[in-house]
Amino acid sequence: MSHLPVLEYPDNRLREKAVPVTDFGPALRKQVDDLVETLCASRAIGLAAPQTGSNARIIVVDATGSGRSPMAYINPRIMARHLWAVVEESCLSLPGLEGKVKRCLRLTIEAQDPYGTPFSRQLEDMDAVVVQHEIDHLEGVLFVDRLPLWRQLAWRWRRRNPAG
Ligand code: ZN
Repeated sequence: MSHLPVLEYPDNRLREKAVPVTDFGPALRKQVDDLVETLCASRAIGLAAPQTGSNARIIVVDATGSGRSPMAYINPRIMARHLWAVVEESCLSLPGLEGKVKRCLRLTIEAQDPYGTPFSRQLEDMDAVVVQHEIDHLEGVLFVDRLPLWRQLAWRWRRRNPAG
């Protein structure tokens, strides 16, 4: 396994729409292992392949942050959303930024495992929130895009004018 470098804003590769995985061979499982290792090494709760420069529709999630129960979703799709709430988020690709985003706390997801086997799961609370954040990455969407416009502008201004 190897620890992959994580791209940071404003890298253009974070803005590309990822493409479905069709080859479920050993190279995919190696990529999933690398993503899981990078997730754990970063002490993060979620990571999407585009954050490592890949355009594959793969996300890995461990909402406990312990690195003990990582879950990989290949070609994930949200089939149902319930219980909307406002939650605080951050992102490895947007260091130093935190903000409140509207997400649902209960969802049904369909995806494939690293061998191509389809499965469906009900997710709740942080698992559901993280999956929505990571699927956004597959669409080239960053959580800063979901913040109020004044916060987006303030954040961009601060990036250009670091306090000195
Ligand atoms: Zn993120």
